[in-house]
Amino acid sequence: MSPEMIPAAKPIIGEEEIEAVSAVIRSGMVAQGPQVAAFEEEFTAQMTPGARSIAVNSGTSALHIGLLASGIGAGDEVIVPSFTFAATGNSVAISGATPVFADIELDYFCLDPKSVEAAITDKTKAIMPVHLYGHPAAMEELREIADRHDLMIFEDAAQAHGASLNGKKVGTFGTFAGFSFYPTKNMTAGEGGMITTGDDTVARNCQLLRNQGMEQRYANELVGLNNRMTDIHAAIGRVQLKKVEQWTRQRQQNAKFLDENLEGVVVPPVAPGAEHVYHQYTIRVVDTDRDRFMQALREEYQVGSGVYYPIPNHRLPSLAPYAPNLDLPVTETAAKQVVSLPVHPSLSQNDLERVVEAVNACAKAGA
Ligand SMILES: *Cc1c(COP(=O)(O)O)cnc(C)c1O
Repeated sequence: MSPEMIPAAKPIIGEEEIEAVSAVIRSGMVAQGPQVAAFEEEFTAQMTPGARSIAVNSGTSALHIGLLASGIGAGDEVIVPSFTFAATGNSVAISGATPVFADIELDYFCLDPKSVEAAITDKTKAIMPVHLYGHPAAMEELREIADRHDLMIFEDAAQAHGASLNGKKVGTFGTFAGFSFYPTKNMTAGEGGMITTGDDTVARNCQLLRNQGMEQRYANELVGLNNRMTDIHAAIGRVQLKKVEQWTRQRQQNAKFLDENLEGVVVPPVAPGAEHVYHQYTIRVVDTDRDRFMQALREEYQVGSGVYYPIPNHRLPSLAPYAPNLDLPVTETAAKQVVSLPVHPSLSQNDLERVVEAVNACAKAGA
């Protein structure tokens, strides 16, 4: 009999979340209310001390509203990576601005500061790095470039709850950051997002924009949206927030075991001073046919894996019109070589050993 499949990702949602949701439903008040307010306060204290947090209904909404709240709109350019989930570029485009795609560097899969600098024009208003897979982007180099060109920095921290660089948490480096609570992320609220900002004007704009531009009922100050989080989702998020640090330590221990035992593939290095929270543990296969490699992992060893992301955003039918004739060679290489392996906190030691055995055997066979 084949062993059970080890899934690439596995959200952990249990009795405590069910109890918390039931309590909200029993209270009879389910829309944005006291649970959301408490979630915002607790998220700030734990994840982005010194900033403010504004909860919304998704990570995409967090980026969209953060952009609008920062004054980004038609005629502006925002530099983003192409090697990311489409929500990064989508949020810029939907705000009316133009996403300008820059290349990444191959070690950490995050924006390459040199490529960013080369993409700056007189319309550039901001740089939006992604802390991809949970590894912080090169924030110090990007800050230096942003200051020299008078640009804002916005962080896509959707995959990076708790990650840090030289002791400074992601979500505190820019004008605002957007986090996601989609079920496969390091913590979930069912769906949901959080904007963090240290700027009081941006914070107030976010609070208005998520709620039709109103603070006082029917006295709308801005043209806004309904992107509120519900108390049902916030109740899930609050339970998860208590557990995410322990889960992150487990992810880091799992990654360490993989780092020390995988052979024949490129394991993900961590930049000096960076704390990686391993939303994904992403290797590169260089001399191996990736499709066959992943098929063998799945069929011969019952080990799940994933490719994030196979098509660079600047070549998607939706976003390609923003990037005619753009060539991003490192992004193309990464898109062809990356494979994300199971690293989630539910893995047992036996699972980890099975992942290692499978990867090493398939890498050897494919070399
Ligand atoms: C998940 C994700 C988002 C969007 O978050 P949602 O909650 O799914 O809207 C944005 N950027 C990145 C890099 C993501 O991984």
